[in-house]
Amino acid sequence: MRFISAERIHSGHSFFPAGSVLVLDDNGVVLDVKPKAETGGGKVEFFDGIICPGLINTHCHLELSHMKGKVAEGTGLHAFILEIEKLKKPADEEVQEAIASADKEMFENGIVAVGDICNTSATFSFKKQSKIFYHNFLEVYSFDPSRSDAAFARGTYLAGQLEELGLKKYSVTPHAPYSVSVSLLRRIADHASEKNSILSIHNQESPDEDLFFKFKTGQVIERLKHFGISADHFSPTGKSSLQSYLLHLPRDLKILLVHNTFTGADDLQFAAEYNKDICWCLCPNANLYIENTLPDIRQMEAARCKITLGTDSYASNHSLSLTDEINTILKNFSSVSLETVLKWATFNGARFLEMDHKLGSFEKGRQPGITLLKQDKISKKYSSKKVV
Ligand SMILES: [Zn+2]
Repeated sequence: MRFISAERIHSGHSFFPAGSVLVLDDNGVVLDVKPKAETGGGKVEFFDGIICPGLINTHCHLELSHMKGKVAEGTGLHAFILEIEKLKKPADEEVQEAIASADKEMFENGIVAVGDICNTSATFSFKKQSKIFYHNFLEVYSFDPSRSDAAFARGTYLAGQLEELGLKKYSVTPHAPYSVSVSLLRRIADHASEKNSILSIHNQESPDEDLFFKFKTGQVIERLKHFGISADHFSPTGKSSLQSYLLHLPRDLKILLVHNTFTGADDLQFAAEYNKDICWCLCPNANLYIENTLPDIRQMEAARCKITLGTDSYASNHSLSLTDEINTILKNFSSVSLETVLKWATFNGARFLEMDHKLGSFEKGRQPGITLLKQDKISKKYSSKKVV
């Protein structure tokens, strides 16, 4: 049995009263949380700093880890996507080494579970031996409705490869509103309903996404042309992206909307009325990297959105550290407290990934791992590491 305490302990929901002690068994399972006076004189391991349950990164692309430092910053999503397509390559030794090193970095900085986007099988065999719990979002795309079947088959092909490795946590999921046809979205939605699976989609990451859906103008059109994809079948809806595509996804399954950099208050309201299980994943450092802007987090808090955090990938970030995302939020949004953002980084993420029976909080019977956060006195930035 271990007794663990720190300057402050975050439960996954909020801070425990000062002087609380976590009681764990030798495997790290939470047995109890009690005041120090009630620990019966057992030796308490004390950490300088804040401890919280292991962090949950709900949006990453581990397979893009080899792109670290290779993509220019601040060019906008359009140029970013063209650049990424050029840098994609088969899963050679460099790709595999980058995957292993990114996974190790996340584990050491206190991340215990990841919602990971997969366009290929490059990460699958590595994940079999990883200490991190992964939910694999098998991401499919095709804007051409005549290619819906082939695009969807790619998702089920990847699912088969995971099954062969004994990896069961996955869902076939859409890439982004502008890269999937309505017929492909419906196909994905039917499959998710059948399997009762969680979904993820990149949402309103650039202003051009709304321009495309409202008026069929902007850089999305240019990009489709660049890739030789016809948009002739597409008629603008006159509504925002979110209000155009969400109707084709299930009302009763958990859906993670990722980025939300250009999401308006009316979109937040629309989403909440359509589906009670929408979660909003923030990847602020990737937003700064690509578009040099941040989502309106104040507005999301006011609308009582369920928020989770993600690092996105090394194509658009300088680190895979949820704590660096927390630092960016605290620096730019003074209304957001550390107590709140830690809930987003732990319990909310675990709940979305359906891992909350084990991870995300210090409730009795959970085995969430322990992450230690320390604040630098001068920069005020937190750093984190796994301690249990
Ligand atoms: Zn992404």
